[in-house]
Amino acid sequence: MIGMRPQDILSPTAAGLCCKPGGFHIDPVRPVERALITHGHSDHARPGHGAVLATQETLDIMRLRYGDNFAGSTQVISYGEHLKLGKTEVSFHPAGHVLGSAQIAVDHGGLRIVASGDYKDALDPTCTPFEIVSCDVFITEATFGLPIFRHGDADGEICKLLDSVSLFPERAHLVGAYSLGKAQRVIALLRKAGYGAPIYLHGAMEGITRYYQSRGIDLGELRLARDAKKADLAGAITLAPPSAITDIWTRRFPDPVAAFASGWMRTRARARQKGIELPLVISDHADWNGLTATIAATGAGEVWVTHGQEDALVHWCETKGLKARPLDLVGYGEEDEGASVVAEEGGAP
Ligand SMILES: [Zn+2]
Repeated sequence: MIGMRPQDILSPTAAGLCCKPGGFHIDPVRPVERALITHGHSDHARPGHGAVLATQETLDIMRLRYGDNFAGSTQVISYGEHLKLGKTEVSFHPAGHVLGSAQIAVDHGGLRIVASGDYKDALDPTCTPFEIVSCDVFITEATFGLPIFRHGDADGEICKLLDSVSLFPERAHLVGAYSLGKAQRVIALLRKAGYGAPIYLHGAMEGITRYYQSRGIDLGELRLARDAKKADLAGAITLAPPSAITDIWTRRFPDPVAAFASGWMRTRARARQKGIELPLVISDHADWNGLTATIAATGAGEVWVTHGQEDALVHWCETKGLKARPLDLVGYGEEDEGASVVAEEGGAP
């Protein structure tokens, strides 16, 4: 198959990234016959497809959020497993973004394209570490695709939170975190730092957090904030969806310190504007260094850039002699940090 072009294998359509020779879409935003899903965030994993192929965790998370009938049929694929689909071969590889998250490699006609979905190369005790997959074309996100975004050390941010708790033992500490992935990572990082006290949860993140525990992720003792007395919440840490930390729900907390765990907290103006007293720069997306190092490591000669800040990353690729273009896919970046503000959660239970 000499002369196969990457755009003959994968191309952007209104429904999302379409693989004609394989007969499937990746993370489609509209209902399709066959969907391959990278991870459980609601902007990538939507209900209503005919058949869904994904990791066990992603399928479980979709079931948890949308109910048993979220798709006509489902099929599990493990990391590293290869499957023939139409004329193509596909395989899933760890993306390090949230539990079960995967990059999807599509092989056809001697070319390999990797659609990475959302990913991060930083360590995360709650999911399988990101793996570099060599390819000809690498499709990357660009949520933090500007050189100003350096996420730094998440453990250091957790220390800031613990310092504040010991400095203000009479105040509640409310940490805004996305329900899928970020909340569990913050809890796991607190445990890793030696914090042994019960951690309180907003009810909206209970189901998904219990699911993480059922998959063997050790999160220590967790309690629901709604079952706690106001006095119990003083000096304690409570995790809540970003939309909840500044609303009426917080009245039950004694003199709360509002914290928010997000890559966007790198920009102080944004934290101030949102009334965040304690910004924590903890992201589940690669920062500028992570994006550029990953692109280089894949060995790809061509890069397609999806949702986020495409321009700077496309420009960087071109300065390195790589072919690069923005994909202009719409409908992504609505749930987790892709939403550049303290956003409402989409599709959370
Ligand atoms: Zn995501």
